[in-house]
Amino acid sequence: MIKMKTFLALIIFIPIISCSQNKNYNLNKNHVFKIIKSDKEWKKILTKEEYKILRKSGTERAFTGQYNYFEKKGVYNCKACNSAVYNSENKYDSGTGWPSFDKAIKNSILYQIDYKIGYARNEIICSQCGSHLGHMFKDGPKNTTGERHCINSLALNFKPKNDE
Ligand SMILES: [Zn+2]
Repeated sequence: MIKMKTFLALIIFIPIISCSQNKNYNLNKNHVFKIIKSDKEWKKILTKEEYKILRKSGTERAFTGQYNYFEKKGVYNCKACNSAVYNSENKYDSGTGWPSFDKAIKNSILYQIDYKIGYARNEIICSQCGSHLGHMFKDGPKNTTGERHCINSLALNFKPKNDE
């Protein structure tokens, strides 16, 4: 009986999510994160502030992040697991006070719905380690994707292009 209920809940719930969001990126229950660490382990490799944002879905204060005004060419990695998540070519100045991108590197991020402030937002998490990076809003540049990926500087680690 419980199984039947779960099944019904799934077939009702899944189409709602997939219609309202970008279909390729939604976190599904079967997603396996390649990098799994305990809270204790994360605390060892992250600073207090980084831990708060990446592992507890915190947000840094606007206009305080090191990558807000930052225009170097290269790749932004997830600060927690070092997987590449954004290219500098997709960064733009949104004027919001947080690093903003119109697109993530393919398969590098996932969305999950976050009701933290009372309404649904697309939370962006790293597809490799599940750490919180920021949120995606649909008020981005209309000439490209229309998406604004609003990312915390503290969740990112920039690697210049000629560093590889
Ligand atoms: Zn990560």
